[in-house]
Amino acid sequence: MLDKLVIANRGEIALRILRACRELGIKTVAVHSTADYSLKHVLLADESVCIGPPSSTLSYLNMPAIISAAEVTDAVAIHPGYGFLAENADFAERVEKSGFVFVGPKAETIRKLGDKVSAIRTMKAAGVPCVPGSDGPLGADPEENLRIARDLGYPIMIKSSGGGGGRGMRVVHSEASLLNAVAITQSEARAAFGNDQVYMEKFLERPRHIEFQILADNFGHVIHLGERDCSMQRRHQKVIEEAPAPGITARQRRLMGERCVEACRAVGYRSAGTLEFLYQDGEFYFIEMNTRIQVEHPVTELITGIDLVKAQLLVASGERLPYEQSDVQFRGHAIECRINAEDPKTFMPSPGPIRLWHAPGGPGIRVDSHVYSGYNVPPNYDSLIGKIIAHGDSRETAIARMKNALAEMVIEGIKTNVALHQEIFNHAAFQKGGLDIHYLERRLGLR
Ligand code: ADP
Repeated sequence: MLDKLVIANRGEIALRILRACRELGIKTVAVHSTADYSLKHVLLADESVCIGPPSSTLSYLNMPAIISAAEVTDAVAIHPGYGFLAENADFAERVEKSGFVFVGPKAETIRKLGDKVSAIRTMKAAGVPCVPGSDGPLGADPEENLRIARDLGYPIMIKSSGGGGGRGMRVVHSEASLLNAVAITQSEARAAFGNDQVYMEKFLERPRHIEFQILADNFGHVIHLGERDCSMQRRHQKVIEEAPAPGITARQRRLMGERCVEACRAVGYRSAGTLEFLYQDGEFYFIEMNTRIQVEHPVTELITGIDLVKAQLLVASGERLPYEQSDVQFRGHAIECRINAEDPKTFMPSPGPIRLWHAPGGPGIRVDSHVYSGYNVPPNYDSLIGKIIAHGDSRETAIARMKNALAEMVIEGIKTNVALHQEIFNHAAFQKGGLDIHYLERRLGLR
């Protein structure tokens, strides 16, 4: 087992990783910015190293500072969490070249699957169904691009190969605006991701977002842990996630799960990963792969009983994955609400001091959060301050437990989206389940 690990992240996922390390007897090093001295995992870690000023470019994205922190503390491994450097192939490579274990896939795998055009190509070759679209990146010939769009049929979507976090995408409804949209998406992508490669996909009008969780070790052993439904989104960002996906049959789960497993085996995947699909009219279409642990991993943990972060750490320490596919049994239903420090109506971030934090509890309730009464939410980072996850034998029980939990949740001092979640859980359509990715924005009058 790994002796000591650097947690190269902040917030709830840093605390989640620390807890998994504690269970496995791994010593922890927290690295943090000057804005983050009072983060819970920094206070709990065996050691901590300040790696820079509040700006994430100078701290959580500062590769030499993070690697130096591993060196000075004699750590042997680095866990990147999600966001920041988690899907940065150059970081994974530098970590391994410096003699540390990167908790995640090999750098070359991240490179191949992190770029969306290359991921789609890889998945197509492995027999995974993809959204109808351009064959690779768009070229400079306007006539050719107009032809591709015409063949696909409007509306279409222009997407950045290097995009992420719901950014770098644009829907085009007619030929008149196509070329302009391509140019704007390219220049935005160049500025935001340093890569102006864009491609085209058919814009699906009413799909659901359904993704499959994968675990793999260094010995070619790959399993899937079923799917999650993440269709409740705003600005292409997930708000609520659940597992299993309502209405997906055991047969669909098995067939898609097997395809994902085969594709991951074909690329020599290791660690945890997620294949994201759009699902419409009974068909799955691959959109991208996340080569890291995801925010919504707890819903899968609750219905399978498998600890995904511990599994990542076991694999990183060179052990075999201790599960066969037949060990993965699904029990009940789990739903997660992302709690953000933001105005529930305008969605403007709401940083500042939390006067009072009282988390809910009771049967089937899990709260993953780094905040506490007196904690000051810094304005520099993502607004996620925690996650409430409810589990029950049925979707109805999970919903009833979540409603209780949301009603018990007390957060004073800052604005949060708890009221928005309460509103959604009272929608009859949400209670029925199986909604498409545009439902939330339609219902909130944002579309
Ligand atoms: P990101 O890496 O930014 O998360 P994704 O490719 O995963 O980008 O897409 C994020 C979301 O954007 C999807 O969950 C879906 O809501 C929407 N989306 C992406 N591609 C399409 C498409 N072809 N048609 C309709 N919606 C799409």
